[in-house]
Amino acid sequence: MPDTIEVPVLIVGGSLVGMSSAMLLGHYGVGSLVVEHHRGTAIHPRAAQITQRTMEIFRTVGVEQIVRRRSAEQFVQDGAIMGVESLAGKEIAYYIANLNEGIRDLSPCERVFISQSLLEPLLKQRAEELGADLRFATEMTSFEQDDTGVTAHIKHRDTGETATVRARYMIAADGAHSRVRDRLRIPMQGRGVFSNSITIYFRGDVGPLLRGRNLSVIYVINPILRGFFRIEIPFTSGFLAVIALGDPEHPNTDVSAGLTDQSCLDLLHAALGVDDIPVKIEDVMRWQSEANTAERFREGNIFLAGDSAHVMPPYGGFGGNTGVQDAQNLAWKLASVLQGKAAPELLDTYERERRPVGEFTVEQAYSRYVTRTAPYLASKGFQPVAHDMNVELGYCYDGQLHEHPNESKGRPGSRAPHLWLSEGCSTLDLLGRDYVLLAGPQWNGITDIQVHRITEPAFPAAYGITPSGAVLVRPDGFIAWRGEGAPPLV
Ligand SMILES: Cc1cc2nc3c(=O)[nH]c(=O)nc-3n(C[C@H](O)[C@H](O)[C@H](O)COP(=O)(O)OP(=O)(O)OC[C@H]3O[C@@H](n4cnc5c(N)ncnc54)[C@H](O)[C@@H]3O)c2cc1C
Repeated sequence: MPDTIEVPVLIVGGSLVGMSSAMLLGHYGVGSLVVEHHRGTAIHPRAAQITQRTMEIFRTVGVEQIVRRRSAEQFVQDGAIMGVESLAGKEIAYYIANLNEGIRDLSPCERVFISQSLLEPLLKQRAEELGADLRFATEMTSFEQDDTGVTAHIKHRDTGETATVRARYMIAADGAHSRVRDRLRIPMQGRGVFSNSITIYFRGDVGPLLRGRNLSVIYVINPILRGFFRIEIPFTSGFLAVIALGDPEHPNTDVSAGLTDQSCLDLLHAALGVDDIPVKIEDVMRWQSEANTAERFREGNIFLAGDSAHVMPPYGGFGGNTGVQDAQNLAWKLASVLQGKAAPELLDTYERERRPVGEFTVEQAYSRYVTRTAPYLASKGFQPVAHDMNVELGYCYDGQLHEHPNESKGRPGSRAPHLWLSEGCSTLDLLGRDYVLLAGPQWNGITDIQVHRITEPAFPAAYGITPSGAVLVRPDGFIAWRGEGAPPLV
């Protein structure tokens, strides 16, 4: 390692959100250095439910197709999200019968199931193609900041080599236990930690217990445990996450305390509903279920993104997706400021836009946790469960927080609606690099920015304009301005 490395953006943490940040910065033409403590990309599956919005972001940077292809190798797509007493036993509820049913018209992309361990190498490859400098087995050990940037000290775990990094900005994508956040004394606010949870990774031929059902997430709700299964093709491996034990009204949520090989096996059998299938436990991961949002997402030249900014229970599959959205919101703003296209004040909008959305999404994940498996928490209050699409595609930056994506109709602060313009080409494919103007067929204004005059008859109504109107769309696909245009001549 050279003694000193200069880079526009230093990213601490090279997992889902750090890697996405590097990829998106590269897409906008900004170099970054990623330092990641681990020796490679994620080894544990964790996030697997990837929303349409995340896939739209991946589409912008050219990885949507490969992510789709690889996802089909790992999971049968379009599965259900449902609850059972046990995998072999009684079904309790179908929360989503088919992951993509009824939502295909909302986006050019589909929800997919692909775990972090398979996804992250694809993002890594794209980040490297786009010029990111990725250093694994490398830890950021300390940092300080001044008015013009951040100075950080990094160390290679194996060789002990050290270097000083000087960056204009730093992204803390260092996860739920963010040491950068702690060092900046940014407190977390919310519901706190409500379970010391575990994930049991296992092998065993559980295919027959699926009985031909296509199940993406299987919540297990019985008097012994509450948690969920995910099972991979060819149905001989998967994991069981366990969040609570015993009496549902007075549960033991310290699941990770006093675990033994036998107690893990007992939990697995209780969730499978049979104990005559040979299963082998390969690993057990300990983690905390919590629902918290950082009080601030920014301190000077340092930005929190992903789990360092918000941590939520994995009910709804929102955590990693919300982090990718943070990365997207931040990347184009950092690029605009670093490239002199925007004043530094643009960066103030990161926290203003993303913190309310982060907090809302944390609450929505918590509400799903309470209503699906932890009714004992209901007495402490929780937000009404919003439509999944409001959370996944309909989050807004105009103070309204969320709405169904069919309702926004190009309102400033909302995501630009998808509309097919020709075979395989969506309105969203016109966006993603700079500001663009999407204009009705009769629009006749003059502007320096790129204009797409759209003749598709459904366009004006989808964007809430007349044929002589137009909308200005930001690089992240959110509407910045809408000019509804003159009423049509009669
Ligand atoms: C069982 C389970 C299932 C889940 N399912 C879903 C799902 O279906 N969909 C979804 O969207 N989310 C899901 N999540 C949540 C998702 O896994 C997280 O939201 C996501 O991993 C957050 O990514 P991140 O990059 O912000 O943080 P992390 O993945 O925690 O990564 C932080 C990285 O920073 C590194 N790091 C920390 N400090 C330093 C340092 N000083 N120097 C260098 N490196 C450092 C760490 O080594 C780590 O790799 C699930 C979580 C769990 C536990």
